[in-house]
Amino acid sequence: MFPDAQIPGGPLEEKWDRHGFELKLVNPANKRKFEIIVVGTGLAGASASASLAELGYRVKTFCIQDSPRRAHSIAAQGGINAAKNYPNDGDSIRRLFYDTVKGGDFRAREANVYRLAQVSNHIIDQCVAQGVPFAREYGGMLANRSFGGAQVSRTFYARGQTGQQLLLGAYSALMRQAALGRVTLFPRREMLELVLAGGRARGIVARNLITGELETHAAHAVLLATGGYGNVFFLSTNAMACNVTAAYRAYRKGAFFANPCFTQIHPTCIPVHGTYQSKLTLMSESLRNDGRVWVPAKPGDRRPPHQIPEAERDYFLERKYPSFGNLVPRDVASRNAKEQCDMGKGVGETGLAVYLDFEDAIRRDGRSAIEKKYGNLFQMYEKITAQNPYETPMMIYPAVHYTMGGLWVDYNLMSTVPGLFVLGEANFSDHGANRLGASALMQGLADGYFVAPYTVGGYLAGTPLESVSTDHPDFREAKAEAAARTGRLLGVRGKRTVDDFHRELGSILWEYCGMSRNNAGLAKAREMIRELRARFWEDVTVPGTADDLNQSLERAGRVADFLEFGELMVQDALARQESCGCHLNEAYQTEENEARRDDQNFCHVAAWEFAGTPDKDPVFHKEPLVFENVKLSQRSYK
Ligand SMILES: Cc1cc2nc3c(=O)[nH]c(=O)nc-3n(C[C@H](O)[C@H](O)[C@H](O)COP(=O)(O)OP(=O)(O)OC[C@H]3O[C@@H](n4cnc5c(N)ncnc54)[C@H](O)[C@@H]3O)c2cc1C
Repeated sequence: MFPDAQIPGGPLEEKWDRHGFELKLVNPANKRKFEIIVVGTGLAGASASASLAELGYRVKTFCIQDSPRRAHSIAAQGGINAAKNYPNDGDSIRRLFYDTVKGGDFRAREANVYRLAQVSNHIIDQCVAQGVPFAREYGGMLANRSFGGAQVSRTFYARGQTGQQLLLGAYSALMRQAALGRVTLFPRREMLELVLAGGRARGIVARNLITGELETHAAHAVLLATGGYGNVFFLSTNAMACNVTAAYRAYRKGAFFANPCFTQIHPTCIPVHGTYQSKLTLMSESLRNDGRVWVPAKPGDRRPPHQIPEAERDYFLERKYPSFGNLVPRDVASRNAKEQCDMGKGVGETGLAVYLDFEDAIRRDGRSAIEKKYGNLFQMYEKITAQNPYETPMMIYPAVHYTMGGLWVDYNLMSTVPGLFVLGEANFSDHGANRLGASALMQGLADGYFVAPYTVGGYLAGTPLESVSTDHPDFREAKAEAAARTGRLLGVRGKRTVDDFHRELGSILWEYCGMSRNNAGLAKAREMIRELRARFWEDVTVPGTADDLNQSLERAGRVADFLEFGELMVQDALARQESCGCHLNEAYQTEENEARRDDQNFCHVAAWEFAGTPDKDPVFHKEPLVFENVKLSQRSYK
């Protein structure tokens, strides 16, 4: 039996309000009796920690970095959506809800998405009150710009540094609570195990990354806000420390993993330029507001862009999708860029790039207007490529960027392990099979500021919890498991580096479980990953010891988890015999090469349960998706 998603009854618009009223409250004086562990200090974790502590709970907050401010959220560039309708262009909560459900190719839960759209407006108020310096119009109103998959301007931004500014806001709120003694911070800690006692999440085992010590921490509830797993592909736009370990360890302890194959490939990244590259750079989607995407109309045309006259250019997105043009959603833009390159129309040295051209926008609005909107992004591009995008078009190509899959959660954001809540990119969330631009920041902050503070309280108020300390045998056992695993990694003493294995895993996944997939390729990938995993445990080299700062050991643990998790992704992709959003199985396409869904058989969330060993097939569970407020239709952006 699939666990109940706890979706409240009643009209869509009233569900969250009613649920909030019906959730039990913890008496203010009792809140300080509860301890809550929050793992992660990105937008989701920092906002949750600050909000829970503000309510009076005692919070312990963990992160890998030396400061909460260095969480990957800081890298977010383009903006955050909300349904304020300041430009008066027809936006509303319902439209944001609809765009998000449609953008995700009808593979998200209606009730969750509607709540997200409702809460979006509160996020902007909260952040403005914290002093987040959103861009403003001349008259003082907050400015908006457009992102893919929407025909209204609803994206709030702070130049190309929106994530940084939002994180500084959440960090300030967090540090205020740290100063008041309600949050205890544990930086440079990596969670290696979840601890269950009495069948509930009651703590974690974390490695102190400076001393190597394994620590145990107990609490009444555990919140994971540990981000996405895009780095399973080795090359991605994610920060180097992004990983799947916390989520995967929770999966091994009984938390279901939902839709793991749903990976967002972002169309506008700086193309790969060498074999030994370890990181890819995003050029924000906001650039597609003014930049025009094109390739030479004739395959094999190697002339420099300025020598290709207008009539010999193919503005393929504008041509194919006249309504949305360059602002089609990411999955559509990425697939089209790949298609052009596959036809031999790609540009640059490798032929794996398309142009993103600002010539028209600069001519129309002037260089200084463009500089004001995107100055730091242009500077970043020039620093990396040594080309000036004011004078020559940018070259871009799709790259792994975001993961819609994640730990399965119910409407309360609780996983299938009682007491384990999952927030932000780490949960399977509200984005279905494709996330619209500027919606991740919205979801992370919705979860952290506005959803978890209520639902965690509801859990604590309604659940009798015995007192548990780290002397409990379950803590000792979890710590021994973590120590044994670390010992095993150090004990292999092989010849190949961790990165070498990681790079090979990434190339398998990119080739067979990337922008498009087919059954034969997926079956092959599964065998290749199994074989690579076996070789890893025979031949990996991890220098140093466990009793010290050891970055090779940190990476080895993460890659070992990626090697198990990668197979789960492939299995999920194989099980979903349809195309939807980011998941394009070549056997299921419309005549115009768009994803062809099978609503009859696959209108569900696929949730996987660990079977006790990675060598045994995980157990498949299905959460049917019920649409009562939107009509399922073939997604069209024409
Ligand atoms: C380059 C780039 C630009 C983007 N721009 C935008 C944008 O403009 N708009 C938008 O909406 N979205 C954007 N996104 C997506 C968005 O930034 C992320 O989805 C979001 O910030 C994730 O936030 P989070 O709080 O869930 O996780 P993160 O910010 O990734 O934080 C994860 C936290 O968990 C901690 N952690 C992880 N594992 C462990 C462990 N095992 N033990 C202890 N701690 C752990 C980390 O230390 C970190 O503190 C962008 C993404 C990228 C890559």
